Amino acid sequence: MSKIEKGLEGFFGRGKFERKPFADGLCYFIGAFGNVGVVKTDEGLVLFDLALRLFGPQVFKAVREFSDKQVKYIILSHGHFDHCLGYAPFIEEAKRNGWEMPQVIAHENLVKRFAKYRMLDAHQMWTYKQQFASVGVMQSDSESVQSALEPTIIIHGNEKYEFKLGNYIFELYHDKGETDDSIWMYFPAKKVLFTGDLMISTYPNIGSPFRVQRYAKDWALAMEKMLEKKAEYLVPGHGFLFEQKEDIREALSITAEALHFVHDEVVKRLNEGKWFEETYHEMLDIYPEKFKNHKYLRPLYGEYRFAIHDVYRLYHGWYDTGNPTDLFPVKSEEIAKELLKITDQANFFNRAKQLYEEEKFQLALHLLDVLIKGSDENSADLVVAYKLKIKILKILAKEEMSFIAQNILITSANQLKDKLKELRKT
Ligand SMILES: [Zn+2]
Repeated sequence: MSKIEKGLEGFFGRGKFERKPFADGLCYFIGAFGNVGVVKTDEGLVLFDLALRLFGPQVFKAVREFSDKQVKYIILSHGHFDHCLGYAPFIEEAKRNGWEMPQVIAHENLVKRFAKYRMLDAHQMWTYKQQFASVGVMQSDSESVQSALEPTIIIHGNEKYEFKLGNYIFELYHDKGETDDSIWMYFPAKKVLFTGDLMISTYPNIGSPFRVQRYAKDWALAMEKMLEKKAEYLVPGHGFLFEQKEDIREALSITAEALHFVHDEVVKRLNEGKWFEETYHEMLDIYPEKFKNHKYLRPLYGEYRFAIHDVYRLYHGWYDTGNPTDLFPVKSEEIAKELLKITDQANFFNRAKQLYEEEKFQLALHLLDVLIKGSDENSADLVVAYKLKIKILKILAKEEMSFIAQNILITSANQLKDKLKELRKT
C-alpha cells in the first residue's frame, strides 16, 4: 500500500461500508464515500446523507441490517455528489411497500446548486475526470445530479430547523463552510453531531483547485458552534466515527484554529497592500508546526496551500499580481517563442535538466514550459522536454499527500504521454 493509499484509508473509510451501531444502539454509522448516519426511533428512521449513487445499494443493505423501519426523513448535508445520490433503493423500497415518501430536508442553496450543476453538467464531468482520475469511478454520468432527490422541506437562510420523530428532537443548523448549502444535525438525546463535510478529519477541503469559493471564517465559526454542544459522538462526512468526547473537542477546535489562522493571516496581508505572490510565499513560511503535524489536519484532500488561494479570492479580484503586464497579456506561446529567439533551445533544456538534477523540480518545470510552448511541433527538443516534464510530474505526484494535487499531476503527466505518442507518429 502506498503512502497516499494508507493516508486515504481513513478518508475513504476503512474496509468501506464499515457498520457500527453506537449511542446505545439508537444510531448507526455506515462508513462510505461519504459516510451515512442513521437514527432509529419508534416511528421510523432518519438518514443523514446517502453517499455516492454507486454506493446506494450497499448503503441500503447496511441500513436494512440495522433496522427494517420505514425511512421518514432524509437530510442532505450539502449538494455534493458523494453525499446525496445513493437514494434510489430507498425510494424503490417505499414505492414497493406503498409507504409515504420520506421527507427530504436541504438548504435553499442546495436547490440553486443543483440548478447550477445541471447547467454545467458537461463541465462538471470534465473536472471530475481530472480531479478523481486515479479512482476511476468517475467515468460515467453516475455522479451527475441530472436526476436527484428534490427536497420537500427547505431550510432558508440561517434559520434553525427542528423536527420531532418518535420521542426525539432533531436540530438542524445551516453554516457556510465547504459549501454555501451545508446543514449539520445535532441529536441532543444522545449528544450526536452529524457534520457532513464540515468535518472530514483531515485539513478542510477549502480552495480545491477546480472548485468554487469556500468560506474559511464561517467554517471556523461553525466548528465553534458545534463545540458548544459538547457532543459525545460525531459522524464526519468522511473518515471514522468519533466516539470520544476529547477527540471531538480536539478535532473541532484545531480545525477552527487552522481556519481562523489562514483567514486572518491572508486578510492581514491584504490590508498591508500585498499581492498574491508575496502573500502566498509568506504564508508558506509562517505555517505553524502544530498544524503541520496534527493528526486531524493531514493534507490528504484539501490542504493549506489551496486554502490561501481561497481566502485571497474571497476578498480580491482576479488581478492579483500588481503587474500591469498581466492585465491584457499576449498568449504564453508567443512569449515563449520570443524567449527562444534570444537563446537556443539546447541552452534552455540543459538548464532545465541541471535544475532537475539539483532537485529544483518546480523551477525546472517553469523552464520546460518555455520550451514546450515555444518549440515547433516537429522539433526534437519538444520530445525531450515532454519526457523530462513527465518524469518531474511523476516525482512531484509521489511527494504530494493531497489526493487532488496528486490527481492533477498524474492526469497531466498522462496527457503529456499521449501528446508524446502523437508526436512520435508524425
Ligand atoms: Zn464529501
